[in-house]
Amino acid sequence: MAQIYQMSPQLANLIAAGEVVERPGSVVKELLENAVDAGAKHVTVELRHGGISYLRVTDDGSGILPEDVRTAFLRHATSKLRRESELSAIGTLGFRGEALAAIASVSRVDLFTRTKHYDEGVQITIEGGKETGYGETGCPLGTTVVVRDLFFNVPARAKFLKKDATEAAYAESAAAQIAISHPEVAFRLIRDGREIFSTPGDGKMRSAIYACGGRDLAGSLLAISGSLGEIAVSGYISPTEITRATRAQQAFYINGRYVRSRLLSAAVEEAYKGRIMTGRYPVCYLDLRLSLSAVDVNVHPAKLEVKFSREKEIFSAVYQSVAAALDANGELQELRQKPNLLAPREDHLTGGQQKMRLEVERRESVPTFAESYQSARAAVAQKQPASMPYQTKSNVPPAAEDKLPPLVEPVLDPLTFDPVKPSVSTAAPEEQKTEQTPPASPEDRASETGPEPPQVRVLGEAFRTYVIAEDKDGLWLIDKHAAHERMLFNRIKAGLDGQASQLLLSPKTVTLSQVEKDACLEHADLLRKVGFGIEDFGRGALLVREAPMYLDEQDIPFVLSEIGARLLSHRGADNELLDDLLKSISCKAAVKAGMDTDAQELQQFAEAVLADNEVRNCPHGRPCVTYLSRYQLEKLFKRIV
Ligand code: ADP
Ligand code: MG
Repeated sequence: MAQIYQMSPQLANLIAAGEVVERPGSVVKELLENAVDAGAKHVTVELRHGGISYLRVTDDGSGILPEDVRTAFLRHATSKLRRESELSAIGTLGFRGEALAAIASVSRVDLFTRTKHYDEGVQITIEGGKETGYGETGCPLGTTVVVRDLFFNVPARAKFLKKDATEAAYAESAAAQIAISHPEVAFRLIRDGREIFSTPGDGKMRSAIYACGGRDLAGSLLAISGSLGEIAVSGYISPTEITRATRAQQAFYINGRYVRSRLLSAAVEEAYKGRIMTGRYPVCYLDLRLSLSAVDVNVHPAKLEVKFSREKEIFSAVYQSVAAALDANGELQELRQKPNLLAPREDHLTGGQQKMRLEVERRESVPTFAESYQSARAAVAQKQPASMPYQTKSNVPPAAEDKLPPLVEPVLDPLTFDPVKPSVSTAAPEEQKTEQTPPASPEDRASETGPEPPQVRVLGEAFRTYVIAEDKDGLWLIDKHAAHERMLFNRIKAGLDGQASQLLLSPKTVTLSQVEKDACLEHADLLRKVGFGIEDFGRGALLVREAPMYLDEQDIPFVLSEIGARLLSHRGADNELLDDLLKSISCKAAVKAGMDTDAQELQQFAEAVLADNEVRNCPHGRPCVTYLSRYQLEKLFKRIV
């Protein structure tokens, strides 16, 4: 008996739906694309319960002819593509003819539609892929699709849906992507009865970005526009001082279609290279226009990825336009004056609160970096003949110095960095010391009982970025921002649960995108831990009563929006999340490269950094201190051989 059967269309639809409809956000995306393709000028989206129980999209586009309404729900039924030859030049957002069929197979759909040729419209109801109602109805010009009970018949799928707030967030960002890529259409998004955003439809991308929650951002974005051959690039990018911890705020639109693209992200980031820190990402909204045949949009079931026929040209077009805009804006180094980098921000300190001090509270059991360095050196020195005093000029025994472990070894994962172990991997020399050394000389004993941290003298600062200091044996180079960031990170972390925050003199309202705001509120406990006291303040706004110590008040909106983005993109363990949030705070609070810092402050800063064993890598893992010994210098200049 035959064992292979062709699937029923219903079963085939259900399976295909798995690729197209993953969550309410994907339904929003497909329905909005249909509205745009239908030439709508006004589109409203309404969600209830994250769009799971109820999701409605109303447009004033062309509508669907009564004779086409049933067909529209068949799989592979489309008005946008007729011939094979057209597949190589698709100018509409839709073309696969799958969305309505897929959505209707996994939910209860009501569609109301009317074209200008008719006075009456048509309504059709389809539940789990089966038609359960059809008839004439009075309705305005255009189309309304109501989707209820998503995945009611696919429990396996329903199980994977997240909390309402999270699903709503996905749906909102899907809607925002389309709204920003089609600023000529006015989009309105309502969630559980509240308006989340409403774009004006004035044709300006900046207005749409502003409306979709980028209120604080929109004003600072730099406009870009350029072209290379047939490729035109326009849109907005962030100035170099606005960066994010993730790529969540990088959006690319190809001929009006939102896509994800590593190639385009790489091109943008290449243009920012050397202008922003590694591990940070620029914000961008880029609209690329190119000939329809130069891009294959048929490579992804949800049409989220595309293939370019001339990748190199696209890359250069984007790279050059972005770099040109940054150059024109003089985006080389941030040359901003910033007050004392050692003191906590005092502008919002309340009277009774204790200021944190940067002086190192030295824990008895933990050797400082300087101590471990000294003892490592002493250990090696002991093995040298007494006639060659270790620290005499030009007499530094090469063999001894060569055996010293590198002074600064990048600890790749700074968060697993164990402060109890000296960071200069002195374990081996220490062991040698106890095992092999003859009875200790008085100096040795002195160094064992607590040598002083190196007496450093700051010589100056290179590129307003690297502090240069000398001790009697060599030169220290300290990356000002990275070291300060690490210091703050450690301090805030040590002061979690209580001491990390300062009451603001007057509470501050912060406008975020709805998605970021929801994420912050959902994790209010975690935010409290790192020092933010926040409350819901209505439409897109949070009220901040407390903020982390050290953070400038003006940086609060930025940090909260970044925290929102991190919360949304976070996948790993909760303690990683906490560290991520701390990184956002300490990075923003730290003095920036390029800022002026006065000499006395640099001196204190260098002393504090070098005395603190735990400040050797920034929280992102980059080294922040390096050392060039006098011996190395002397070798370099061939004073010794
Ligand atoms: P596709 O968009 O790939 O063609 P869909 O399943 O999304 O496939 O839609 C099928 C067809 O239904 C479309 O080609 C279009 O003709 C019609 N349609 C869907 N939504 C709308 C709408 N909002 N307004 C007008 N026509 C629509
Ligand atoms: Mg479609």
